[in-house]
Amino acid sequence: MIALNSPLKPDLNKLQKLLEKVSDSGWYTNFGPLHQELTLKLEDYLGVQNLLLTNNGTSALQVAAKAIGSQSFLITPFSFVATASAFKWQRDEVAFADIDPNSLNLSSLAVDNAYREGCTADTVVATHVYGNPCDVYSMDKLAKKHGFRLLYDAAHAFGINLNSKSVLEYGDASTLSFHATKIFHTVEGGAIVFKDNDIFEKAKEMINFGIKTGVGVVGVGINAKLNEYQAAVGLVNLEGIDDILSHRSELFYSYRKGLEDCVKLPDWHPQANVNGAYMPILLESEEQLKKISNLLCENNIESRHYFSPSLNNVFVDSHDYGSVNSVSASKRVLCLPLHANLSLDEVKKVVKIVREGL
Ligand SMILES: *Cc1c(COP(=O)(O)O)cnc(C)c1O
Repeated sequence: MIALNSPLKPDLNKLQKLLEKVSDSGWYTNFGPLHQELTLKLEDYLGVQNLLLTNNGTSALQVAAKAIGSQSFLITPFSFVATASAFKWQRDEVAFADIDPNSLNLSSLAVDNAYREGCTADTVVATHVYGNPCDVYSMDKLAKKHGFRLLYDAAHAFGINLNSKSVLEYGDASTLSFHATKIFHTVEGGAIVFKDNDIFEKAKEMINFGIKTGVGVVGVGINAKLNEYQAAVGLVNLEGIDDILSHRSELFYSYRKGLEDCVKLPDWHPQANVNGAYMPILLESEEQLKKISNLLCENNIESRHYFSPSLNNVFVDSHDYGSVNSVSASKRVLCLPLHANLSLDEVKKVVKIVREGL
C-alpha cells in the first residue's frame, strides 16, 4: 500500500536519553530546559525571532489573536477547519472572503473588496495553504490601507522562505502546527512567531494562566504550554529535518513534472522554496475526482479530498463575501501521497495511474 502520509518517527535511543534528563531533573513542563533548547534551535533553523512554543496549532491561533488584540476576523475559506473553528469556538466574529483560483490562497482582491463593501473585521487570517506562500506583499499594503492586523496560519509552511526571508516574518504573527501529521512534529504542539517583542512577552504570560514569572497574575490567561516530553520529540525530529525537507521537495517536483501537462496544479509562489508538505492536484469536476481517487484506491494508493468542504459552507451563520472559487476548488482538489518514506519510484507509479485515469 502507498500511504497518503507517514508521521516522522523519532529515533527512540536519542529520545530515551532526553527523557532520562527530564526524569533526573524532575522538570516536566513550564518552560523547562528542553523547551528552551527547542525554542532556540527552531528560531535558528527557521531564521526568526520571538518564537513561542504552544501545545498545538489551534491554541497557537487563539493565543496569537488575543495577543495582537484581535476580536473579529476575515478568514480564508480554503483551509483546515481549525483556521476558522479556533475563533468560532470563542464566539469571535468571523467572515469569509474568497481565494485566488490559481494559488488557492486568500485573494488580496477579495480582501480589498470585502473592506470596500464595509467589512469591519480587525484582523485578516490567511493560510499559506499546502505550504505555498500567500501574496504577502499585497496583503501588507492592504493592511496599511484598511487598518487591519494580519495573522498567518503557517501550519503548512515550516521551512518556507520568500526571497530568502522566512515567510513567518510577515504579518503581525504567524502560527505553526507540530501535530504528528505535519512535516516537523512534537506529537502535538505548535508555535507562534511574533513581529513585536512586547507582544511576544505578553503572549508568553497568556499561555501560562496570565502569570508573569516572578510577579504573579497580570492578566487573563489559558494553559497552552508545550511540555518537556513534547520538546524532546521535537529536538530529536529536528536533527534530521534538512534531509526530510529536501527529499520531500524532490518528490514534489517529480510529481509536478510528471503531471503538469495533463492536470491543473496550483500556481506556486515564484520567489519561494518548497517543503513538499502536500501534493494537491485540481481535477475538472467532482466526478473526475471520484474516478481518480477510486482508481488510486483500487491500486492500493491512498489519496485525500481536502480541503473540503469550503469553510463558508461549514460555518453558514458567518458572513460570506462570496467564496465561489473556494467552493469550486474544494470540490475538485485531491492530495496525492507525499511523505518522508515515499520513494521516487512510488511517485512515478502514482503519476502513471493518475495519467491513465485522466
Ligand atoms: C493542522 C492545522 C491546524 C491545527 O493544528 P493542530 O496542531 O492540529 O491544532 C491549523 N491550521 C491548519 C491549516 C492546519 O493544517
